Parts: sequence; C-alpha cells; structure tokens
Amino acid sequence: MKIIMYAVLDVERPFIKAWAEKHNVEIKCVTERLTPETVKWADGYDGIDFQQTHMLDDSIYPTLKAMGFKQLTARMVGLDMVNVPLAKQNGLIVTNVPAYSPRAIAEMGLTQALRLVRKLGYYDQRMDKLDFRWTGLESTEIYNLTVGIIGAGNIGGATARIYSALGANVIATDPVHHAELEAYLKYTDLETVLTESDIVTIHTPLDDTTVNMLDAAAFKKMKPTAYLINMARGGLVKTPDLIAALQNHEIAGAALDTLADEVQFFEKQAEPDEIPEDYKTLRAMPNVLISPHSAFYTNTAMKNIVEMGLDDVLAVLEGRHPQYEVLY
Ligand code: NAD
Repeated sequence: MKIIMYAVLDVERPFIKAWAEKHNVEIKCVTERLTPETVKWADGYDGIDFQQTHMLDDSIYPTLKAMGFKQLTARMVGLDMVNVPLAKQNGLIVTNVPAYSPRAIAEMGLTQALRLVRKLGYYDQRMDKLDFRWTGLESTEIYNLTVGIIGAGNIGGATARIYSALGANVIATDPVHHAELEAYLKYTDLETVLTESDIVTIHTPLDDTTVNMLDAAAFKKMKPTAYLINMARGGLVKTPDLIAALQNHEIAGAALDTLADEVQFFEKQAEPDEIPEDYKTLRAMPNVLISPHSAFYTNTAMKNIVEMGLDDVLAVLEGRHPQYEVLY
C-alpha cells in the first residue's frame, strides 16, 4: 500500500516515519502543495493526504478520480479550501482532522489575550526607549473579566474550560449547545457576547454565514475596553472595519492569528512590498498582536495531525469507515 502526502513539514517527518513503520505502509512525502501540476505525482499511489490553506483547483478532483483514488484527506481542521460537493461528485471520500489539539489553539488565544490585557505591547514600546515607567498602563485581572466566546465547538469549548479555570465569567453564543460545556460557560446570544464581554474570542468556521461576521456594527457594540481574539479564520473579521474600530478607540485591541489574505505569504519569508497596507497598519499598533497562523503549532498537535489523518486514509483503503468523514 502506498500513500502520497503533500505539503509535508520537516516537523511531521518523524511522526510519518513512525506511523509508516507501524502500519507497514510506504509513504512518499513531498513539500509542495497539491496543485494541478503536482497532482500528477500522485499517479500510482493508493492514498492521498494533504494540508494547505490555498483553495484546491477544481480540476484536481476529476484527476484524482481518473487515477483511481477513493479518498482525499486534509490533515487540518478548516475545510474552506476543499470543494467537498465536487470531491463527492468525483467519488472521493473527504476526511479531515477536526480536533487534533483544540488546547493548542485555545492556549495561544489565552496567551495573546493575557498579553493584551496586561498591555505588554505598550510596555514593549516603552522598554525599547528605555522608558521604565508604568503610569497609564494599569491592567485588569482575568478572574474579574467576562470572556465571550463566539462558536463554542472544539476550540471554543477548550477556550471556555481554560478561562473558567482561571475564574473568568464565560459566556458563549453557538446555535449548537453542548451539555458538557455548561459547567464552564453560560449560553447567550451574539448581542450579549458583544456588549458584555471584556474579551471576545471567535472560534466559528469560515463560511457564507460567518464571513465578515465581525464588522463595523459588531465593533460598535463592543466595550471600548474590550479585546478581540481571532485564532480562527481571517475572513471572519472585516479588516478595514477592525482598523477603524481600533483607530476610533471603539475597542481596546486585537490578537489575530489568521488574516484575511494570508495565503499570499503563508509560511514564507515575505518581502515588505508583498504585505498589504492594512496589515502594516495593524502591525504598527502596540495594541494589536499578529501571529502567522501558528496557534495550532505544538508537538502534541503535530503528532495527532499526522496520525489521525493517516489512520483515516488507511481506513478508506482497507474498506473501513473513516473516523472523520466530512458528511456535508
Ligand atoms: P468546531 O466545528 O468544533 O466548532 C465551531 C463551532 O462554531 C460549532 O460549535 C458551530 O456550531 C459554531 N458556529 C457555527 N456558526 C456559528 C455562528 N454563526 N455563531 C456562533 N457559533 C457558530 O470547529 P473548531 O475545531 O473549534 O475550529 C474553530 C475555528 O478554528 C475554525 O475556523 C478553524 O478553521 C480554526 N482553526 C484555526 C487554527 C489555527 O492554527 N489558528 C487551527 C485549527 C482550527
């Protein structure tokens, strides 16, 4: 049995090697993304496993069908780069890795929220000038704050557990209520989350119903002292509206692990002229923290991503039901 894996990172290789030896499967690793050109390399393999934030070209699905593939495994949570209906039309069972380590992303969100709450961006600015004064930078303490979660699924749920353990008042909006989370959060509506929270942390998928969900109208509802944490998808936030809200002091700051147009410079050393002006504006603000879509990046997450993705490739190839088939 032979599997090809696309966009393999060096950090994944030891886990891939260990999995391949355990299951006696030959695995070809390539570092390139899955594109109309590189899909040709899959010819002769039985299984395919990829990860990327760039949209898959529509021509890839019939090509995979013609090569005899039965599955397409995305070793990641987000599926906005896969045309699932088209994949299905071409006989491909799509699987993803829906929860390789929700804690990884939740902990990154918390880290950034604490940095914002403690005004560390402003302190860093002062320290750069050898200014050791702390006047004007009084902070608050987490257990006195209300944390509002938009989308309390795997990552939002893990986020609720962490903030609850720190003593914060946790509220959440989600059309789906999970009974097991009610010990850690109180369900409410979006309006209440926006108006009452000191930290608004968004963890919904990006789709037609959530795109630009946080726009000028939403920011106007937030407290001027509130922080926005977006560890989910850049397109959930309307970037120009966020900049305006920050410049007009409608909110106090933001931490963004994902940016709307990040595919242009995802995982690369970018040149200054490649970076859009709005990102530069945000980056220059001491109350804005930008990280390069790295919230997932822990050793636990990497191991789980590799193993859970490959387990499902093997399940389909062996005629078993994969654990994480995408059903929509
Ligand atoms: P999930 O499917 O487990 O949870 C999402 C939740 O959002 C669900 O409970 C759903 O009911 C809810 N939801 C959907 N629409 C909503 C709406 N309009 N209002 C309120 N709630 C709504 O997904 P997850 O695994 O928790 O992932 C959450 C997000 O994190 C996704 O956007 C994913 O792509 C992103 N993500 C980011 C990273 C990273 O490294 N930054 C890593 C993994 C996942």
